[in-house]
Amino acid sequence: MSETIRPVLSGQKALVVGVANDQSIAYGCAKAFAEVGADLAITWLNDKARPHVEPLAKDLGASIMAPLDVSVPGQLEAIFDQIHAQWGRLDILVHSIAFAPKDDLQGGLLNCSAEGFAKAMDISCHSFVRMAKLAAPLMTDGGSMFAMSYYGANRVVANYNVMGPVKAALEASCRYLAHELGPKGIRVHAISPGPLKTRAASGLKDFELLLAEAAEKAPVGELADIMDVGFTCAYLATPFARRITGGTVYVDGGSNIVA
Ligand code: NAD
Repeated sequence: MSETIRPVLSGQKALVVGVANDQSIAYGCAKAFAEVGADLAITWLNDKARPHVEPLAKDLGASIMAPLDVSVPGQLEAIFDQIHAQWGRLDILVHSIAFAPKDDLQGGLLNCSAEGFAKAMDISCHSFVRMAKLAAPLMTDGGSMFAMSYYGANRVVANYNVMGPVKAALEASCRYLAHELGPKGIRVHAISPGPLKTRAASGLKDFELLLAEAAEKAPVGELADIMDVGFTCAYLATPFARRITGGTVYVDGGSNIVA
């Protein structure tokens, strides 16, 4: 595909958070941005994740690579300091991370502990607000921010449990951030991919069933892959999408419109 693609984001600076491996949605975003000319900053969760992420980041030509666990005080500030020092600005931010403790995720919402709910909300939602706060001052020419949501934010999806309310909060946060940051020329999008076989998805009970159902429902006959998600974000980051902000953009082959 790359031969036919124009470098529409040439020279744009993109921070992509959430690459765990080459199946990660964040990897699809980073690869799509690189294919259309953007410079990348890519993070890994911790030392254990680094050997899986660093080679991918190098292959994509990332010029900034660093550890980032959003629950470790100071790490988020450190990556934005590095971006400020090295690039002096930022154009694109991708938040593609989620976490809930296993027992709290798999035991149904009624059994989700207060601590588990708070942790899921902090890592999967509020960390986006923190990132947006640090990113906005660097988006001196405007910019685009993306957070990965899921259909379970708005409709009950069996076994999605606590992540449903968390993604609902994430989508609402995107709307409020879009409203606050719009005057600065910064647009904020919730992206809602259909089910994809990633490491995070493997924590959901009966995920294979969900995949099969969504594929069967999809009007286009197949589900989206991570590059579809990446190129959707790349498009939304271009001036062609300059009047789009605050909404939830489904990248799911149309499954969400089918009852
Ligand atoms: P993934 O496992 O590849 O990515 C999840 C990422 O979250 C990992 O890179 C992990 O390191 C990161 N993460 C977890 N805790 C973190 C922390 N404290 N600090 C920093 N990073 C942390 O799985 P994925 O499916 O690519 O997930 C990416 C996003 O897409 C998530 O928000 C997920 O809910 C969302 N999503 C996934 C699907 C799907 O079917 N896979 C569908 C819709 C939305």
